[in-house]
Amino acid sequence: MANLLADKTAVILGVVNKWSIAYAIAAAMRREGARVILTCQNDRLKKTVDELAAELGAAEVLMCDVSKDEDLATLADALGKYAPIDAVVHSIAFANKEDLSNPFVQTSREGFRMAHDVSAYSLVATARVLTPLMTRGGSITTLSYLGAVRVLPNYNVMGVAKAALESSVRYLAYDLGASNIRVNAISAGAIKTASARGIKDFSKMLETVEGKAPLRRNTDPAEVADTAVFLASDMGRGVTGNTLYVDAGYQIMAM
Ligand code: NAD
Repeated sequence: MANLLADKTAVILGVVNKWSIAYAIAAAMRREGARVILTCQNDRLKKTVDELAAELGAAEVLMCDVSKDEDLATLADALGKYAPIDAVVHSIAFANKEDLSNPFVQTSREGFRMAHDVSAYSLVATARVLTPLMTRGGSITTLSYLGAVRVLPNYNVMGVAKAALESSVRYLAYDLGASNIRVNAISAGAIKTASARGIKDFSKMLETVEGKAPLRRNTDPAEVADTAVFLASDMGRGVTGNTLYVDAGYQIMAM
């Protein structure tokens, strides 16, 4: 391709296996010439993520559980040697399995708190610790889903957390714009990943989209990844505070 990210350094949070959207983004960013650093949630996953990092030619894998402020501070310290950082990709979400199958009205206080902490607040916390390393400006991109703005049965508390995430994108874009740091969300179509399998009847969502989306198919993670490249590149320099749909057009449909 065009080496759109030559001389740029990207930190990508959220690779757990090769089906992760973050993995597709890391591969596309490497293809475009970026130096890439991955993070990994815990020790248990480190071996797999190390192997994927080696395949990708990533510079390093650093540990970070985004629900822990101390992990985020340690991550920022460890990334100091790679500064300036130009792009941050936040591809992280979590909710209890029962909250993705029971009626939404049954969501517990703790389930609601945790989904919002990991899936929305972590973007704010990550931006706070990493933007001091983004001294020449740059781009922060997170991953959202249609459930932020429409009701999809079983998506439940995650939809509410994605609404908070998309709103956080707008507030962060305003704060960080003064430092020429852009903040955007990609609202990806449904993709079969480890997290998606936690949503009850996820395969029915894929079937519905295939039948109804304008492009008559589901979303390829590589399409999401190329949009992440665009946002991180200088081609995206005028885009901030947005939620971009990469979903084969499904979000425009009513019937
Ligand atoms: P995935 O399971 O591959 O990735 C989720 C990642 O979140 C994993 O790497 C996991 O380790 C990480 N994570 C969870 N809790 C964490 C914590 N406390 N600290 C650090 N990392 C943590 O699944 P995915 O589908 O690639 O999900 C990536 C993002 O894309 C999520 O925000 C998801 O909501 C979003 N998204 C997914 C789809 C889809 O259909 N798969 C559609 C739209 C948006």
